[in-house]
Amino acid sequence: MNPIVVQKFGGTSVASESMRTQVISHVIRAIDEGYSPVVVVSAMGRRGDPYATDSLLELVKADAGDPGTGDREIDLLLSCGEVISTVVLAQMLKKAGHRARSFTGAQAGIVTDDQHGEARILRIDTKWLIEAVDEGFIPVVAGFQGACAKGEITTLGRGGSDTTAAALAVALGAEFLEVYSDVDGVKTADPRIAPHARTLARITYNEAAEMAHLGAKVLHPRAVEIAMNGNLPIKVRPTATNGAGTLVSDAAAWGDLEGPSWDRPVTGIAHVTDRLLVHVTTPPEDDMAAVSIFHALGNAGISVDMIRVQPASISFIAEGKARPGIEEILTVTNWPMEIRSDLAKVSAVGAGMHEMPGVMARVAKALQRAEVPIFQTSDSHANISCLVPAGRVQEAVLALHDEFNLGSKTRVEAKNGSPDADLARVD
Ligand code: ADP
Ligand code: MG
Repeated sequence: MNPIVVQKFGGTSVASESMRTQVISHVIRAIDEGYSPVVVVSAMGRRGDPYATDSLLELVKADAGDPGTGDREIDLLLSCGEVISTVVLAQMLKKAGHRARSFTGAQAGIVTDDQHGEARILRIDTKWLIEAVDEGFIPVVAGFQGACAKGEITTLGRGGSDTTAAALAVALGAEFLEVYSDVDGVKTADPRIAPHARTLARITYNEAAEMAHLGAKVLHPRAVEIAMNGNLPIKVRPTATNGAGTLVSDAAAWGDLEGPSWDRPVTGIAHVTDRLLVHVTTPPEDDMAAVSIFHALGNAGISVDMIRVQPASISFIAEGKARPGIEEILTVTNWPMEIRSDLAKVSAVGAGMHEMPGVMARVAKALQRAEVPIFQTSDSHANISCLVPAGRVQEAVLALHDEFNLGSKTRVEAKNGSPDADLARVD
């Protein structure tokens, strides 16, 4: 049997006839290169397109993240978007002269737990896919879904097709995973905010996971983790062109044990908007205040970060949609609280930063120069995050992007006399 490659195509990649034609050409190229492709697809298009996830939710007047979205009815509805894509793509492959077979997540053997709306993949029974590949079919699998042990259809949460693709690739022992999207690869920042952001030729799993967790939507963090655990290289590539994209793997894969980031403090800038900053004044004598608050938040399924616990106060940030739940929990305690909304978290990410002094100073100075106020910061060995007003997110991203010379090719060339090997444009 030829080596397997899993190719995942996101919503915009399957949105129009012309994009779908591009999709088919990527699948055929994989075959020409001697691979057996297994294709994973998302629902077609974005809000407003007839079969997009948001349009399906619209039919029952629910919003992603609404309390009602975590039930079996909604999951059954949402799973249809991806199923439609599989059949359309499989038909196109057949018309192009190939044997193709479409699969729902359940038919592909994806077994999940029963948490509707955010199910976790427990295992994949690959025999049906292997059988199809053995018989010369190209399997086209619906992303973002599976079925629990009872046979109920479940969905994996936003961005879940990436997770499906990574899990299938590991389970099938694929040589690598290709994630096709509407960008050239993993870039130094979201190109919607920083149009001069550059495509990174390669990036380690750790940096990709860090970027994804901190908001770089191009890869889902769960998919990166699955790939890292399974030592599965990911290529993030554009659907519209034949660009090589970004290789996500561990440093040793390119014969460079130190990795590509040792000589640069920052690899990219990520951001998320719609964040709240919550500040609670706690009774100084109550040592259990933090424990009880975080326990209650955890039980309510509210995730928080940038946590700061001090003797008589606690602060943390959360997603905007968590506000009612947070207010409910904190009202019960009767402790004075303040919630500030419309914030964004902007993060500089780089595995090399922990060995370089002065990175925080550069971050603070760059934001100060751009007159962007910082409400809170947090840092780890591979990121520094700053909470800023949501209305200033673009200035903040651009200021950090500039400060660490991530953008302009000419600037890097001017500095080094030649293009930076790791940052060189690959498209
Ligand atoms: P798909 O529907 O194909 O899964 P997504 O919308 O989930 O695509 O992800 C692609 C989007 O990710 C891009 O359109 C881009 O705006 C956004 N993005 C955010 N940060 C980055 C980054 N660092 N590099 C590339 N794209 C990014
Ligand atoms: Mg996505």
